[in-house]
Amino acid sequence: MPSAGTVIIGAGQGGYQVAASLREFGYSERIVIVGDEPVLPYQRPPLSKAYLLGEMTAERLLLRPQSYYEKHQIELITGDRAVAIDRAAARVTLVSGAALDYDRLVLATGARNRKLPVEGAGLTGVLYLRTLAESDAIKERFAEAQEIVVVGAGFIGLEIAAVASKLGKRVTVVEPLARVMSRAVSPIVSDFYAQAHAQWGVQLLLNTRIERIRGEGGRVVGVSLSEGRELPADLVLVGIGIEPETTFAQNAGLAIANGIVVDAQLKTADAKISAIGDCAAFPEPGGGRMIRLESVQNAADQGRCVAKRILGEAADYGAVPWFWSDQRDLKLQMVGLTAGCDRMVVRGNPDARAFSVFCFRGDRLAGIESINHAGDHMFGRRLLAAGETLTPDEAGDPGFDLKARLTRLMPARARTAG
Ligand code: ADP
Repeated sequence: MPSAGTVIIGAGQGGYQVAASLREFGYSERIVIVGDEPVLPYQRPPLSKAYLLGEMTAERLLLRPQSYYEKHQIELITGDRAVAIDRAAARVTLVSGAALDYDRLVLATGARNRKLPVEGAGLTGVLYLRTLAESDAIKERFAEAQEIVVVGAGFIGLEIAAVASKLGKRVTVVEPLARVMSRAVSPIVSDFYAQAHAQWGVQLLLNTRIERIRGEGGRVVGVSLSEGRELPADLVLVGIGIEPETTFAQNAGLAIANGIVVDAQLKTADAKISAIGDCAAFPEPGGGRMIRLESVQNAADQGRCVAKRILGEAADYGAVPWFWSDQRDLKLQMVGLTAGCDRMVVRGNPDARAFSVFCFRGDRLAGIESINHAGDHMFGRRLLAAGETLTPDEAGDPGFDLKARLTRLMPARARTAG
């Protein structure tokens, strides 16, 4: 009997990558991707950046054109959702009633927006941003909106604020914590971005909560803040983080703990089922604690890792995490995980808007946050991938040659090969 092949649930970056890598590495069985959005797999990062600004077309968002899936015999089911897994029968059922048998099942279900838990959150003019449809809805509103309140000063909130202020809107960002992007960057970078947004005319209200969204005739007209202040608003954009999409896996009896729990090879307790990307909680390479990452790099690299394992090349997932955020003329690139670092060393010149923060845990380099300093970012990716470190003194010495350190790391053969 022929193998039932691989079924991939989720047509985002991770799901797409599993299919693409399987074919690239020579997999000849059936591949089916199921996605609930009515479009071909596309890149999400531009939805809060160039696409939202109107500088990129929807077509350019696509990871591949339709012809790619036909040519590589990747069956793509869009606009349908998987609703149940029968693990004993190795079969997935879709909301349309269709059923798919699998030999391997990959869950790349991503995440959904965390909903703002306040009165008025259901009014017309309160919008979220994760999908192409949601970005289109915001763009449409931008045509008329003048007073915009952004809830949450994370990556999404600040990227939206950067775009909206560039479009000439009055923008206020409301954040309950004491600094921006606090989940992922050091206080130095948070402060730098708070100042940059102030220069762009964005009003940033830290340590402030939204108590209520006020409406008239079902439409947003303003927000009430924690200290009793009122702000006018004709558009409220919520970016308060995401929750991993795990319901479907949980109903199938798979373990959930801040994501679908997988082992170092990204397998669930059911050896036929893997989980990758935003929805997966996996052991930190070399660390041992369970982590869940929300990035394109993580989804794509985990997709490749699972594809290799399906083809018999099992290995632990060990990629160095990296992320980026574009806000106006500032390109923020992060490598490694810098939360909880106890020593920060600045290299470059924040006043010239080009610098990096080297973040150390003890004496060990944990990650680098670079603003308009791509060279330092690439250095960090290669250094951390090699399992190497440098000292805080070296990082802080402007005369210390980062490139020379990398050259020393490379084996002689790779060096001569260029
Ligand atoms: P994303 O990457 O989706 O932007 P982050 O986790 O980086 O998500 O940022 C979410 C931001 O929203 C954080 O700064 C967090 O403090 C803030 N936040 C979380 N809950 C609320 C809330 N109820 N109201 C306002 N802001 C919130």
